[in-house]
Amino acid sequence: MPRILVFVEQRDQEIKKITFENLSLARMLSETAGNSEILAVVIGKGDFSAMADQLGHYGAGKFFVYTDESLKLYNGQGYAKILAEAVTEHKADIVLMGATAMGKDLAPRAGARLNCPVATDCISVKWTDGDLEIIRPMYAGKVRATIRLKSDIKIVTVRPNVVVAQEKPVGDTDYTAVDAAPGDLNNKTVEITSGTSGKLDVTEADIVVSGGRGLKGPENFHLIESLAKKLGAAQGASRAVVDAGWRPYSEQVGQTGKTVSPSLYIAVGISGAIQHLAGMSSSKYIVAINKDPEAPIFKIADYGIVGDAFEILPKLIESL
Ligand code: FAD
Repeated sequence: MPRILVFVEQRDQEIKKITFENLSLARMLSETAGNSEILAVVIGKGDFSAMADQLGHYGAGKFFVYTDESLKLYNGQGYAKILAEAVTEHKADIVLMGATAMGKDLAPRAGARLNCPVATDCISVKWTDGDLEIIRPMYAGKVRATIRLKSDIKIVTVRPNVVVAQEKPVGDTDYTAVDAAPGDLNNKTVEITSGTSGKLDVTEADIVVSGGRGLKGPENFHLIESLAKKLGAAQGASRAVVDAGWRPYSEQVGQTGKTVSPSLYIAVGISGAIQHLAGMSSSKYIVAINKDPEAPIFKIADYGIVGDAFEILPKLIESL
């Protein structure tokens, strides 16, 4: 039976949502394979014992904490070394982590150390004929590749929000703290500062409201902000407005920005260029507001409003 290890992504002891999604995915895979054990692994510095209950709620039977002062802040070299050692020590067959900024950095490093394949940014992971079969978008979302991983160890990064996190308590989760020894690292992370000024991040939000060049100028983005506030949503943007300096890069959605998969994505004044779609086409529901009925965004939208954003947004905000 395959042993599944879920890498716990956390910041300041707060577990990221993708971890619970990956635990739910691990449970689905484990149940199909005959209820194999699910291990959760966190790397860092501090007392992480309080996380055991939370992780157990989502199906982690064992929780291993690897701590060392040098791992207090994320360090690709150190984390990959410890993760690879944990995978070997616990004989994990499948490693799940988020297709997040951290997962994108950590997965290939761990894969290189373990000499195993890494499937990144997966939107579906399941068993087919005994193989782990994953689906991942390629070429900026133009195609979807179905890949079967045949190696002994498989590392998979999963796109946030494609799996619904579902609680399924396992009772007591075994908690083990280990003094990690990453050895000499040739670099040290001194500080990590947030680039999003404390705002809800687009990759983590359940609802995203994005604005494009149709908003005409930075002074009109208060409309996007108000709508986002009413909906408890994160604010996103197209590259055109980021390049123009109207919005910060941290909000950019798309091929060269962030990939989002919220339950609801509202695109306002965004044409729907392929590079934008690459970052949001897997959203559950897409709503487009655009004055051009021929705008490509309508081809993938579930709901579309053809009209002037400056008339529609105030009404929408008021009615909400
Ligand atoms: P436009 O294409 O100018 O569209 C503006 C839209 O607003 C139009 O559809 C118009 O009908 C509508 N509009 C105008 N006025 C109103 C109004 N009053 N009310 C309602 N609608 C209105 N783009 C990204 O977004 N993310 C990326 O990561 C990204 N990466 C790229 C990477 C590469 C290598 C390249 C070449 C391009 C990339 N792009 C990316 C750019 C992309 O090709 C588009 O240029 C960009 O997405 C267009 O942004 P937009 O939709 O805001 O602007």
